[in-house]
Amino acid sequence: MRVVVIGGGIVGCSSAYYLAKRGAEVVVCERSNVGAGSTERSAGGIRAQFSTPVNVALSRASMRVWNRFEEEFDADISHRRSGYLFLARDEASADELAETVAMQNERGVQSELLTPEEAREVCPGLRADLFRAATYSPNDGFADPHLALQAFATRAREVGADIRTGVEVTGVPGDSTGIEGVETTDGPLDADFVVNAAGPWASRVAAMADLDLPISPERRQMAVIAPETPVAESVPLTIDLDTGSYFRPEREGAALVGGHFGGDTTADPNAYDRTTDLDWTVGAVEKAAEWTTYFGPESEIRRGWAGLYAVTPDHHPIIEETIPGFVNAVGFSGHGFQHAPATGQLVTELVFDGEASLVDISMLDSDRFAEGRTVDERNVA
Ligand SMILES: Cc1cc2nc3c(=O)[nH]c(=O)nc-3n(C[C@H](O)[C@H](O)[C@H](O)COP(=O)(O)OP(=O)(O)OC[C@H]3O[C@@H](n4cnc5c(N)ncnc54)[C@H](O)[C@@H]3O)c2cc1C
Repeated sequence: MRVVVIGGGIVGCSSAYYLAKRGAEVVVCERSNVGAGSTERSAGGIRAQFSTPVNVALSRASMRVWNRFEEEFDADISHRRSGYLFLARDEASADELAETVAMQNERGVQSELLTPEEAREVCPGLRADLFRAATYSPNDGFADPHLALQAFATRAREVGADIRTGVEVTGVPGDSTGIEGVETTDGPLDADFVVNAAGPWASRVAAMADLDLPISPERRQMAVIAPETPVAESVPLTIDLDTGSYFRPEREGAALVGGHFGGDTTADPNAYDRTTDLDWTVGAVEKAAEWTTYFGPESEIRRGWAGLYAVTPDHHPIIEETIPGFVNAVGFSGHGFQHAPATGQLVTELVFDGEASLVDISMLDSDRFAEGRTVDERNVA
């Protein structure tokens, strides 16, 4: 089985690893270098606290890999389980959190509903009086995206995948009955299957196969802040769901601060500003200062960066064999880092078995948008 994977981000490298491990002859075409896309710009968050069953299932399947990753891949990826804490300010959001926890618990996730005072016990700098409810899971956390991606790429090569950098896919010859391979800047490659794992470029790659996928590249920023009051490493990744403001501990008391505060952030993946805007950074710190006690006026901005989410209208990915031999694993919004282990296995099942069994991905097809079958993921930042 010859498979060409388009994209050397974490989805492409995870897919290459599981495909090659199962015996496929895999070539990864990466237009730039491994990690040049969104993966290395991610916050590295790993959590099971999603609001839809399919995202919870993708998380559960991925966390089975993340939780033994360091042994299986013999790599330190700085995986820390300090939990995720979601906060709701109004009654409607609090009710949604309660429903979400019940759904998660039914699926084996050890999340719990907390009062604001209980939430302050896990996040001591929280201004509890602003909130009505919280949910917390101690098994959530984060890992270093660079180290995790390199570990997938290294292991993929060890099991036989050929990862070619500086090779751009420029065409996907074939038609709606099947594909023949890819055209690249390094010449054509025949393939039985082509996997689109092009992250924010995914709709452009899909268009090469005459597919119109609703995936929008949207710029998101992050900043590393030295807060006036250090953030202990035991503090969870904490999200104020009603404003979109979030932060998590970085090393030595620093914090990674993020959030999307509205406005059109659609960007061209080939030409967007990868640095942070000072206005956004100041605004993000001010927002975090409004609901916690960490970010007082003596806080300092250390550095920041911008990357792209590949956003679908319902914040769920598309994982399917859309036309015979052409598999899409795209549109992960803000969750593609953590869901990459499950996705690589699902892509492998689609290629070898013609159907997925690890997770029921029947609602992750591309027709759902036109047919009005979308369900929105609510726990997004
Ligand atoms: C600020 C920020 C914070 C985030 N935080 C989190 C988080 O906490 N947790 C989480 O799970 N996710 C998070 N994400 C999302 C996560 O980073 C992405 O969902 C994930 O990295 C997507 O991986 P990917 O492999 O699909 O794409 P990418 O990493 O973007 O890789 C795609 C690759 O395809 C290559 N490519 C594109 N077109 C072609 C072509 N024609 N030929 C060859 N190669 C091509 C690109 O060069 C690129 O390297 C965050 C993202 C951002 C921007």
